Amino acid sequence: MSKNSLKMQFQPVQQSKKAENLEKCVHCGLCLEVCPTYRLSGNENNSPRGRLSQWLGLSQKRLHKNAKSCFYTEECLGCLACETACPSNVPYGALLSDAKKQLIEEGDVLHTGLSLTGKLVSHHKLLQKLGLPIRLIRKFNGFGVFSHKFLFPGDPPLHCSTEKYARTLMRLYKPDGPRVALFTGCIMESFFREVNFSSVRILIANNIQVFVPREQVCCGAVLEHNGLPGQQELEEKNIQVFDNLDVDTVLTNSAGCGLSLKNQLSKEVTDILYYLDAISPKRGKALETDHIYLDMPCHLYYGQKKTKPPAQVFEAIGNSWSLAPDAENCCGSGGTYNITHPKNAEKIIKEKSDFLNHVPYNNCVLATANHVCMMQWHSAVELGMIKEGRRVSIKHVVQLLDEAYQNAGVYGKN
Ligand code: SF4
Ligand code: SF4
Repeated sequence: MSKNSLKMQFQPVQQSKKAENLEKCVHCGLCLEVCPTYRLSGNENNSPRGRLSQWLGLSQKRLHKNAKSCFYTEECLGCLACETACPSNVPYGALLSDAKKQLIEEGDVLHTGLSLTGKLVSHHKLLQKLGLPIRLIRKFNGFGVFSHKFLFPGDPPLHCSTEKYARTLMRLYKPDGPRVALFTGCIMESFFREVNFSSVRILIANNIQVFVPREQVCCGAVLEHNGLPGQQELEEKNIQVFDNLDVDTVLTNSAGCGLSLKNQLSKEVTDILYYLDAISPKRGKALETDHIYLDMPCHLYYGQKKTKPPAQVFEAIGNSWSLAPDAENCCGSGGTYNITHPKNAEKIIKEKSDFLNHVPYNNCVLATANHVCMMQWHSAVELGMIKEGRRVSIKHVVQLLDEAYQNAGVYGKN
């Protein structure tokens, strides 16, 4: 896929282009069956074709905005499955972003949690500080009293930043291979920092030089996808930070951030799993689990068009693995969808996770490549969708490779 076509996704549409793009829809209906909200509701208005038709009617002033048209726009997960299925190349993601932006500008909808999230991601340093209690809760398993469906258990470093950690390991191991920059993300670095630490370790173990620019900020995906203001400032800052770096590529370990950055930077942006896949990483020693299922985040599969699993990375992990059934279907996380539309999100993950109740393994891992998907999959465990007696750990793929390296003693004594 060309860089220009990637840039279409979720980029605001100019008015003159907007009508033209909306009119590209030939109503063939090929997008209906891939659409999670259509599958849930069976309602044409709640399908890609239905939404496009409503947006066209609104733009031509044949329809007047009302609670229902707002509702159907808000119901969309932004998973982009429809954009991939569409033979007419309707740039659905960009049109959705535009429709959401309009709703917010006109004061129609704004979920309180979303508004707060939007403000926080724009204040990167403050978010890192506010993330400390969350990291503490996760690290100490809620101190036995607190749990939340989205807070998957983990062992996040409490004080050391990924930037500082990378500098320390670079000094210690002195890799001299290719040079990469690591994008650490706002939520990932604040709440789920151990995934960033795993990323740094496995890259350096493969002789990759890792640079983590201190001044990087949130990619703005959460703002852009929800039509919230402030994305432009973040984009400009990240362009300043990354585009002039002397590195081969910018690596991301969150599919949503990766798609967003690909649209923004001139520098090449690569998902860490596919970067590792291309270099055939060092082998580790298999983990103590029966099987690993890989689920593909929508923004990797549909957004970045990574439709093949990173098989070399799984070879290096060494366990038996396979794609989860319907791996390409959205898990319901939809960026912030599981916050704004918890009931729909729960229905989607319940259906998607049910296979784990029937597989011939009692101890398995569900691996993915996006922190919001990890949150969503953890909610299936936390909400009791997985039968008692079945152990399912939710992990990022880089964490699995990191663990396999630890098992194999790849890091030595350090
Ligand atoms: S982005 Fe996903 S949820 Fe939204 S209309 Fe397309 S397929 Fe349906
Ligand atoms: S697949 Fe494309 S052209 Fe066909 S109905 Fe859906 S959006 Fe329209």
